[in-house]
Amino acid sequence: MPWNRPLIIIVLVLLLALTWWRLPSSDPEVRRSQLAMGTVVEIVAGGLANERLEKAVSAAFTEIARLDRLLSRYQPESDVSRLSAPVTEVRVAPETAEVIALGLDVARRSQGAFDLTLGRLKGLWAFEEDTPRIPDRAAIREALDGIGPGALTLSGQLVRKRAPSLMVDLGGIAKGYIVDRAAQLLRDLGVSYGAVNAGGDMMLIGQPPERPWRIGIQDPRAKGSVVATVQVSNRAVVTSGDYERFFLRDGQRYHHIFDPKSGIPARLCQSVTVITDSVALGDALATAIFVLGPEAGLDLLADYPHSEALIIAADGSHHASPGWAASVVSP
Ligand code: AMP
Ligand code: MG
Repeated sequence: MPWNRPLIIIVLVLLLALTWWRLPSSDPEVRRSQLAMGTVVEIVAGGLANERLEKAVSAAFTEIARLDRLLSRYQPESDVSRLSAPVTEVRVAPETAEVIALGLDVARRSQGAFDLTLGRLKGLWAFEEDTPRIPDRAAIREALDGIGPGALTLSGQLVRKRAPSLMVDLGGIAKGYIVDRAAQLLRDLGVSYGAVNAGGDMMLIGQPPERPWRIGIQDPRAKGSVVATVQVSNRAVVTSGDYERFFLRDGQRYHHIFDPKSGIPARLCQSVTVITDSVALGDALATAIFVLGPEAGLDLLADYPHSEALIIAADGSHHASPGWAASVVSP
């Protein structure tokens, strides 16, 4: 039967109506931001019916708040606050033990560039307060006393400190761990694609329909510009930079990533981006590599399979791991 015009128009109108009706229900996407862990956390989730998506995203934010209560220095009852009291032994939650175990491993392998016992030093510089300051040398020396990869030991859920005066800070790794847990919960609740981003600590789940996840790596010296764009799926992308929390004094930039050897902000990098399997590992590695600098940093990275990095050194030069280019889509 030959097609006549009215029939074609009717079919087209029906198809359009169907597409319009199907789009919101078959491919909804939920995007929500909340303040958590001292930063803006954004969750995008899709691939499920709308009501279930909303529930999954709410559950993820609830989990983030629960873990933040455990791992933040600014929550008085947290494991980290209990560990920073003048005691030598604390029994912690399994999640805290997991973060500490991973952190201690990176601390050992980075020969102390990554350090979980910089709590006193961090307090001295006061980057989390309104008026960060340069502490005097004697105070820095005292805050570094007794720190190092052997300063904490973990057996099961029992953490032992080498000295009661040591204060624990999980700021270089906890955010990543929490993002991992939130992303896993989204997956468990059926979310087939999504992203959890906590101020540069990201997990990209699955792949959104028709457009892959593309992440711009920020130019550390030009806000809003990117130095490269990477395309990833089911990977963590984590950046540590000297442009997030800093102040300038006498032409010198002071920021929140410390070299545990000197007690002053690490000077070898402007930013480090790590792509790896877990955000917790990426978080710890990005901070450790930032302290170590391009050469020793890439040596450390070589210990970790499936891990790539782009290091922007203090002079602005770019140093990438051998497999980095495989993720880059531009420039
Ligand atoms: P990130 O943005 O992940 O590089 O983490 C920076 C945060 O990690 C700081 O605010 C401190 O809480 C903590 N931190 C600073 N220096 C170090 C270090 N050398 N090792 C481990 N954690 C650090
Ligand atoms: Mg980190």
